[in-house]
Amino acid sequence: MKITNVTTRAYRLPLREKMISSKFTMTHRELVMAIIETDEGLTGTGWFTTAGVGALAARTLIDAYLAPFLLNEDPRNNERIWNKLWSDCHAAGPGGITTLALSAIDIALWDIKGKKAGEPLHRLLGGVRDKVGIYASAINLHLSKDGLLAQVEDHMSQGYTGFKLKVGKPDAEEDLDRCRAVRKLIGGGRHLMLDANQKWTAGEAVQRCRGLAEITPVFVEEPILSDDVPGHAHIRANGGVPLALGETLCNRFDFWNYVHMDAVDIVQPDVWKVGGITEFMKIAMLAQCASLVVSPHGALEISMHLAGAIPNCAMIENIFGLSLHDLGASATPVEIRNGVIALPDTPGHGVVFDGPALAGHEMHGTGPIKRESVISANI
Ligand SMILES: [Mg+2]
Repeated sequence: MKITNVTTRAYRLPLREKMISSKFTMTHRELVMAIIETDEGLTGTGWFTTAGVGALAARTLIDAYLAPFLLNEDPRNNERIWNKLWSDCHAAGPGGITTLALSAIDIALWDIKGKKAGEPLHRLLGGVRDKVGIYASAINLHLSKDGLLAQVEDHMSQGYTGFKLKVGKPDAEEDLDRCRAVRKLIGGGRHLMLDANQKWTAGEAVQRCRGLAEITPVFVEEPILSDDVPGHAHIRANGGVPLALGETLCNRFDFWNYVHMDAVDIVQPDVWKVGGITEFMKIAMLAQCASLVVSPHGALEISMHLAGAIPNCAMIENIFGLSLHDLGASATPVEIRNGVIALPDTPGHGVVFDGPALAGHEMHGTGPIKRESVISANI
């Protein structure tokens, strides 16, 4: 089989409502798609979405530098293609724009592999389970305590048994008060996760984590800047709670640094940030070698397949407002019943984009982006 054509599309999708965490305000999400056609009539679609700046740069990287190499390659050779393209881009950067661009290509290749084999991705990748647990995740630091409780109550009424809250209020007591209220609401038997979005310094994080330990979180996520590996090791040794991180790490080497420094308990690779499925599976194996749990970040429609194929995988997350269906990019929602997804049998990833709905949001050219923010750091 040979690749005959590669095209990209880019969209800027408004969120249903503004989302605020300890460090960021989001109003839009950008979606870049890579469509790979073959001489056998099979077409693969890969994509990434991002709140950060850089989507158009990644699209340009695909169009100008990566797509020409793909022509006449066999799309089933994902390892050959990933390693060639990553090496070509290494001097420009081994992560970030490079791996975002690679993820759209790599997911499209796996889509073709699945369609060719007649198998859904979760089975093609190994097939551990046919049902995946999922927790309710929301960007909710801007909600009042009552608003937060109402949101969690709504998610409980949908059958979720795990909930992730944002923390990182300037006042530590206010954070703790909100978390206590949610713990009281959900009771002791349900899972509660906390996400600080890299807000604190290491010393501050130790204090905060020790305080938050009383509500028995499954983990505290990204307490400090993701670049600071020794800082995480310090917090893990002294904070009294399990640490989760990985959504901003870009490849297996970033994860290895955390693993061998004993700086993480739950690894959360994002399939888009690490360059796609090919690299994600290596990170999952690395975690398995260290007896660590994987909990994929975001990317619901792909993460559910990954979770179906990774033995050491915990629940995935449904970030309310950011699924393809919530963004208006897909007409068909992922079916979630009582916090469980029954994995589909559709060959490939099975996602069908809603072309007419997307048409009004397409980005042509390379910018500049209007001043209203894609994402804005609260500094
Ligand atoms: Mg997070």
